[in-house]
Amino acid sequence: MSFDSAAAAADIFDRLGVPRPEGTLVSCSPIDGGALGGVAPSPAAQVGEAVERAHAAFLAWRGVPPPRRGELVRLFGEELRREKEALGRLVSLEAGKILQEGLGEVQEMIDICDFAVGLSRQLYGLTIATERPGHRMMETWHPLGIVGVISAFNFPVAVWAWNACLAFVCGDAVVWKPSEKTPLAAVAVQALFDRAAARFGDAPPHLSQVVHGARETGEALVDHPKVALLSATGSTRMGRAVAPRVAARFGRVLLELGGNNGMVVAPSADLALAERAVAFAAVGTAGQRCTTLRRLFVHERIYDTLVPRLKEIWASVPVGNPLEEGTLVGPLIDEEAVAAMARALDAARAEGGIVHGGDPLGGLCVRPALVEMPGQTPITLTETFAPILYAMRYATLDEAIAAHNAAPQGLSSAIFTNDLREAELFLSAAGSDCGIVNVNIGPSGAEIGGAFGGEKETGGGRESGSDAWRAYMRRATNTINYSRDLPLAQGIDFAMP
Ligand code: NAD
Repeated sequence: MSFDSAAAAADIFDRLGVPRPEGTLVSCSPIDGGALGGVAPSPAAQVGEAVERAHAAFLAWRGVPPPRRGELVRLFGEELRREKEALGRLVSLEAGKILQEGLGEVQEMIDICDFAVGLSRQLYGLTIATERPGHRMMETWHPLGIVGVISAFNFPVAVWAWNACLAFVCGDAVVWKPSEKTPLAAVAVQALFDRAAARFGDAPPHLSQVVHGARETGEALVDHPKVALLSATGSTRMGRAVAPRVAARFGRVLLELGGNNGMVVAPSADLALAERAVAFAAVGTAGQRCTTLRRLFVHERIYDTLVPRLKEIWASVPVGNPLEEGTLVGPLIDEEAVAAMARALDAARAEGGIVHGGDPLGGLCVRPALVEMPGQTPITLTETFAPILYAMRYATLDEAIAAHNAAPQGLSSAIFTNDLREAELFLSAAGSDCGIVNVNIGPSGAEIGGAFGGEKETGGGRESGSDAWRAYMRRATNTINYSRDLPLAQGIDFAMP
């Protein structure tokens, strides 16, 4: 029976009780090219109107006590639980990831809802020792304003949730520009949010809005002076364009950009674990995760054991329709992604690589490529958003760490070792220079409880767990004088005549 993605999308919108979106920006499934629906692009003037509406929502929402704000996010989490299957399926249809990963992405939204609900009672500030008698000093955290979220195609819903759920409990309003390649998932998420808001009762209208379009729509958010925080996820090229524009108006920016993630496999590693971790991290999501494993440094003593085993996995991993049981690798997002993969493999060959796999399999499906490289050449230092793993030998851990850190990006990293000294060195200040550093698990598949993000060309932002919430609030330092005197800081004598 042939697969019909458009009919599958229609069923999902029926189930959600949302009319199938119609508009000139058409979303086509990478699975079979079917037109899933369309949205109307928002020109800059409409983005401006959305921001003004968000501002009004913010002025009301900031006065709502944080635990009550958390209640809205709790209700939204309930809607997500109810529609996990439908939304996960829509993510698979639109982004091409396997159903397990589509469902996992929605689970990540549910998890961040739970986290944010707890956080809504924990937006703590410090009480600070003051040098002046009869004084008290403290810091308070206030809602920041409007958070603009620009998201990438490969995590079409979870990244918004990481930002938005924190922003809502922090008292902010959110305007979201999803990727123009995955706009329908955003329509569905907004519908679920609206359901939660209706059950909540008195949330201000327009607390959460979606604007659609490509770069120009994003730029209107980037440049709007009322967008207090611009959180942008996507390529380093996008971040390079966005960061100076936000800086020019002294806005805040949170950047989650490209990765070029590495793993070191040391001689003491549990190779059975390592091979599974390498496979999930390198070929999972068809190599289209920011945390995808792209560079593998294998100790020379075990290289000829591990790499042949990986070649077998690469040759046999099931590639195809991501909604079919058993498929582990779905299609790439579009023709350009397939062409970019072919160009990268040509470059790797020209730089001395031996390419295994990497062939087009029809449609937008490709066999993942494992490339044995003589060393770290320019192509290995480039993020190609496709399932290409460059494998290299190393002799000493210092050499492997230096090669690992030579990448311009700094998102995620891992070491497989059972040697405590090696593990600790990799985690230390002299070890991996990434924002995420793992031992005996791969670089992809982070949990929401930790702060997520990376250094260097990855942009330096942190979202999701830990204290990432602080980016969505403004800090005020307060000093209160309860004495009958006016002592000045630093002992300054300013006696009036
Ligand atoms: P992309 O940069 O092409 O687009 C991302 C978003 O930015 C889209 O919504 C796009 O419309 C918008 N955009 C592009 N140029 C813009 C500009 N000049 N001004 C304003 N908005 C602009 O990225 P993509 O192809 O959708 O996603 C893949 C990339 O995203 C990879 O590099 C991947 O590593 C990265 N990514 C990073 C993270 C992270 O957390 N670090 C997560 C997911 C994806």
